Amino acid sequence: MLDFADVSVIDNHCHPIEPEKAVMDPEMLAREFFHGMGDIPDPGIKKAKLWGATQELRYHFLHMGVVHTMVCQLSKVLGCPAELEAVTSERNRRTAESFAAYARLLYDDAGIVGTVLDTGLHKDDPILELIPGKVMRLFQMEPLLRKLLEQSGSYQELLRGYQETLDRAVRDDGCIGVKSHLAEQVGFGVKPVSEAEAEAIFPAAKTGDSEAFKKLYVSIFTATLLQCQDLGVPVHLHSGFTGGLWNGSISNADPFLLVHLLRQPEFLQTRIVLLHGGYPWIQHAAAVAHALPHVWVDMGWMTPWISLRIVECYRDVIAMAPLSKLMIGSGGHGTPEIAWLAAKTAKIALAKALGDAVKLDLMASKQAEKAGRMILHDNAVRMYGLGK
Ligand SMILES: [Zn+2]
Repeated sequence: MLDFADVSVIDNHCHPIEPEKAVMDPEMLAREFFHGMGDIPDPGIKKAKLWGATQELRYHFLHMGVVHTMVCQLSKVLGCPAELEAVTSERNRRTAESFAAYARLLYDDAGIVGTVLDTGLHKDDPILELIPGKVMRLFQMEPLLRKLLEQSGSYQELLRGYQETLDRAVRDDGCIGVKSHLAEQVGFGVKPVSEAEAEAIFPAAKTGDSEAFKKLYVSIFTATLLQCQDLGVPVHLHSGFTGGLWNGSISNADPFLLVHLLRQPEFLQTRIVLLHGGYPWIQHAAAVAHALPHVWVDMGWMTPWISLRIVECYRDVIAMAPLSKLMIGSGGHGTPEIAWLAAKTAKIALAKALGDAVKLDLMASKQAEKAGRMILHDNAVRMYGLGK
């Protein structure tokens, strides 16, 4: 029987904990796991998932599979009945004393020792101290691109400003990779844009033309891929269902659509991490990681969101991608429960999927145990050079 309960975890994909979420009512805690649209549009609020919710929609928040899993697992840690009201009230009792101590309780329980964080926060921001263990930040591509588009008079000026800032972020400020939303902003099925073309569409992009902006985005994205080779850091890409709502079609986030771009010889030395396991195109993400030498798969967001089908999801990835190219993540944000639940469900999924492989004589138990440790922890150590 494989058991990974005591194995350390590095969460490869997470967002900051938000201090204002220390105390929440049961429905708000459940809603943290909702990634759809609200049904009462609020003209002042851009993000449709932050819109108001009718009684009807609020009823459904409580019945998402992942919320059931959270309640089930949290009741064991907190020693209370497996009911949303009971676990929320016990969690609030503890967070009211210390949100940081509560986060530490959960991270210790799941064994999370390090976190790769998608954030624009400065490395000394006290909010980062809420996350227990080692925190490693990514450089965010979009906010800088939009700022420089406003400030720059030409594409060359923008590109120079971008490259200098990225260089400093990695060399001086400790960022360990770049985060891009290519799927949401443009779609994966893109062709490289030449510098001459980028120069030509720059004025239109500056005045808000969305097609021109997409071209500009691709141009800066491919420049980023090349720069990351020199800097020796990976590029993280949301893939599949990313928890956001798209400008374009969700089908543009299928990892297969990326192959045309990524297989270009000049990009083969850039390490790419496909976040969210490409869900629901899990097998596609795994196949791309098998076929392309520079692609890894992060299984975050599947854990914890797809908790009721998590074993099958993990089987789909480990079936095809080299086990040395897999990492676990969470897509956590706001509250520590998400990252904690991701690590817990990852351990459950790996114990079952790898354990079955042992039972069927598809793997020896030593091989399976090592593979589990690699996926939970060691592959991330290797990816970010943490052992040095
Ligand atoms: Zn994400």
